[in-house]
Amino acid sequence: MRHVIPPAAPSCVPVLGSDAQFPVRRIYCVGRNYAEHAREMGFSGREPPFFFMKPADALVPVAAGHTGQLPYPSLTADLHHEIELVLAIGQGGSRIAAADALQHVWGYAVGLDMTRRDLQAEMKKQGRPWCIAKGFDASAPIGPITPAAQAGNIEQAAIWLNVNGQPRQRSRIDRMIWSMAETIEHLSAAWTLQPGDLIFTGTPEGVGAVQRGDLLEGGIDGLGELRLLVS
Ligand code: MN
Repeated sequence: MRHVIPPAAPSCVPVLGSDAQFPVRRIYCVGRNYAEHAREMGFSGREPPFFFMKPADALVPVAAGHTGQLPYPSLTADLHHEIELVLAIGQGGSRIAAADALQHVWGYAVGLDMTRRDLQAEMKKQGRPWCIAKGFDASAPIGPITPAAQAGNIEQAAIWLNVNGQPRQRSRIDRMIWSMAETIEHLSAAWTLQPGDLIFTGTPEGVGAVQRGDLLEGGIDGLGELRLLVS
C-alpha cells in the first residue's frame, strides 16, 4: 500500500528471554483499583471499575537490566509515580467472563502510570477529560513482558516502588479491588479486546512526586524490576 506520509512504526515491548517483541495496539488503564490508594485520593468503598486510555506511543520500554530515561514532562510541577501490574492481551474477545479471562493474557509486565497530578486535579474539578494528565508523551514506562507460563503466581505477588532507594509504594496484587480477571470482564464488556492490548491494572497507595535526577526502581515478584532515571 502507498501512504501519503510515512506510517508510524508500531510501539513494541521487549519479551523477557527472547529477541522477539510484543507489538502494542491500545493501552487501557484502570482507575483507583486498590482500597488504600482510593482512600488517599479521597474516595472510599467499592465503586465499579472505571477506565481511561493512554496512546500506545506513550510507552517507554526498558529492557531487562537497563535503566530507562524518563523525560520530565511539560506543564506540570507535580509529576507522580504509580507503579502497576500490566496485563498483555494475546487473545482478543468481547464480553469475556472472569472465569475465562486469564486465558486471554499472553504475559505480564511492570509498568508506571506517570501522572501530571496537578493537571489531573484541575481536570477533575472542572469535570474535564484526564487525557492531558494521563496520556502525555512518555507517560507509560514499562519493563519487559514475561510470558504467562513463566510468571509464577502473580495473583499473590508483592508490588513495590522505591525512589532514590527509599520505599514509596508497597502492596500485594491480591489487594486489588477488582482482580485481573474481573478487570478483563468489565473492560471487555465496554470494548472488544484485541491481541496487543495492554491493561495497566491500577496502583496501590503511596503515590507521590518525582523530580529530575530521581531514580525510580519498581518491581513485582516474578516479573523482575523496572528502573528509570528522571531527566
Ligand atoms: Mn494508575
